[in-house]
Amino acid sequence: MKDEVSTAATLVLIPNNADSAQEWMAAFADRESVNLVLEGDASANAAIGALVFEPSPGALDAYKHLRVVFNLGAGVDALLADEDLPDVPIVRLENADMSALMREYIVYQVIRIHRGFGWVEQQQANATWHAMPAASSASHCRVTVLGIGRLGAPTAQALRAVGYTVVGWSRTARSLPGIPCYVGRDSLDTLLATTDILVCTLPLTAETRGLLDLGLFSRLPMGASLVSVSRAGCLNESDLLLALDSGQLRHATLDCFRSEPLPSSHSFWMHPSVNVTPHLAASPQAAVCVDEILANVQHLLNDEPLRGVIDRGLGY
Ligand code: NDP
Repeated sequence: MKDEVSTAATLVLIPNNADSAQEWMAAFADRESVNLVLEGDASANAAIGALVFEPSPGALDAYKHLRVVFNLGAGVDALLADEDLPDVPIVRLENADMSALMREYIVYQVIRIHRGFGWVEQQQANATWHAMPAASSASHCRVTVLGIGRLGAPTAQALRAVGYTVVGWSRTARSLPGIPCYVGRDSLDTLLATTDILVCTLPLTAETRGLLDLGLFSRLPMGASLVSVSRAGCLNESDLLLALDSGQLRHATLDCFRSEPLPSSHSFWMHPSVNVTPHLAASPQAAVCVDEILANVQHLLNDEPLRGVIDRGLGY
């Protein structure tokens, strides 16, 4: 494939594990116009761009020629927590695969909860056969999506297409065809009272930290459920356990955790009402992200606006 970048630019990869390093290096291997090198490589000091996912604090400080940092994901909370983060644009991934993966994950998890399929899987594991109560269709199930951005909006639309009664909530006014959208804390309290399944796709920011707490859970109808793909900092874990144990919440599906991998001793693993997935909701393959990164390198070299730049002040 022919790249748009005409002059070779050095990019440095600071991977968060060996497998992802191999995958990213392989994805760029046939892109001769860009020289992707691993941190520690002799030519890494010349890098104008860094590809990172949750690097250690200070890891970017060594690169004095950086003009851009590519975050190999959507959430930038860990990156922004680095006090030595270079003062260059931070670009996040925003490709179609990522939003498709998120849409698929959340639609699956919502249906799994609404139709009680976790219980059905448990029956097979125990070789037992119990008739389920007659099910109600999706239209009787009210889903509120917190965060209707690049991932939340297509998810809300997909849930609506399945038949769910969907509303969305965001920081600023948004409009989605067929989906009532709301803004602000007062409206949230009203929305929660009519929510059967709460879906959280919010970024972790100063405003959303700890938002999913007992106060919020208590505003949901008794027996509501939660699906969260947001960073663990949005959730008060002990409040979640209290809400589950009291029956205020019936079920929680969680994809992100304060400590990853989730320690084997963590109570979420064995909790009958918690479904743990290992931070896999929407991690696109490196190969599908290369063009998006190369296009931004081209924009950088042409002094054109970059796409997917996050707002450091807002934190997303
Ligand atoms: P976007 O920036 O596109 O959208 C964020 C949405 O959240 C926007 O609708 C925004 O409102 C809303 N929002 C932000 N702050 C507030 C607030 N204080 N109150 C109400 N709404 C708020 O992000 P993405 O949709 O791409 O990603 C969202 C998050 O999903 C990421 O930050 C990441 O943490 C998580 N994620 C998880 C993955 C996983 O595999 N588990 C994979 C990828 C992402 P507005 O529209 O008004 O700006």
